[in-house]
Amino acid sequence: MIMGKERHVVALSGGKDSAALAVYLKHKHPDLDVEYVFTDTGCELPETYEYLDRIRAVLNIDITVIKPEKGWDDYWTLVKVKETPYGIFPYLPSPQQRWCTEVLKLQPYEQWVAKTFTDCIVHSYVGIRADEAADRKGMVTRNPLLETRFPFIEDGLALKDIERLLTDSGLGLPSYYSWRKRSGCYFCFYQSKREWLGLWRHHPDLYYRAMEYETYLPEKGIVFTWCQGISLGELLEKRDDFAILPEEGKNNTEYTVSPDNKLIKTLSHINQGGGGSNSVSVSITTRSDGRKTAEAP
Ligand code: SF4
Repeated sequence: MIMGKERHVVALSGGKDSAALAVYLKHKHPDLDVEYVFTDTGCELPETYEYLDRIRAVLNIDITVIKPEKGWDDYWTLVKVKETPYGIFPYLPSPQQRWCTEVLKLQPYEQWVAKTFTDCIVHSYVGIRADEAADRKGMVTRNPLLETRFPFIEDGLALKDIERLLTDSGLGLPSYYSWRKRSGCYFCFYQSKREWLGLWRHHPDLYYRAMEYETYLPEKGIVFTWCQGISLGELLEKRDDFAILPEEGKNNTEYTVSPDNKLIKTLSHINQGGGGSNSVSVSITTRSDGRKTAEAP
């Protein structure tokens, strides 16, 4: 247990923004003692674990892996159930019922912070970019000792700056990026239909596993599907309606560690105000439940 001083934590998601944040902090504040953590839902893509390994190697850092006490299947089958005239059925999370993030990501992270740090102010850094703050609410934390920081918003860094940081550092993008744009669970309901079909092409076993969680009894009005209005079985039947994106399957990752001076140039460009040409001014607000959100005007 760590007591009585300020601590700094970056929660990596396995996606590009939090990875770029690790690069940014490491080079902008090389003396800062940062803890890197990853909350593992147990439902991650294999590419996510590969990318975390690459982050460890390229940045020469340790990453603490936090696991929820209960896994997805415990919540899905035992807790998140709905009673219907035809019996009790487990229901899936959705953008309106995003219970998965709460139980698989936020609570384990908060519990880890509470267990690991005592009497410390903990600066928790979040990789929300200046150009996405309007549509991405940063659900962060209820722990009063946690101070949420948004360096990309504070410094006006937008997507092109993040991509440059990743390229110049040699980290590149996660390899799933050629067919899917978000990190997270293989069954994440935020995937587009095309991304679901990307999962089927790249990880058919995971696609069929996701299918098993669906309840599709439209004649009884019981429809718990990952995509709105269509089951994964139907989506497969209609797959010819969804063209493969031209860039799918291309290796868009960068494995070569480029000379540090390239990254230093990028950082100095950003620090001189060259970054964030798409940036917007945002304000961080605290909601009534104590969570902080980043909002554009
Ligand atoms: S990645 Fe998607 S499914 Fe997984 S916890 Fe986050 S919102 Fe839920």
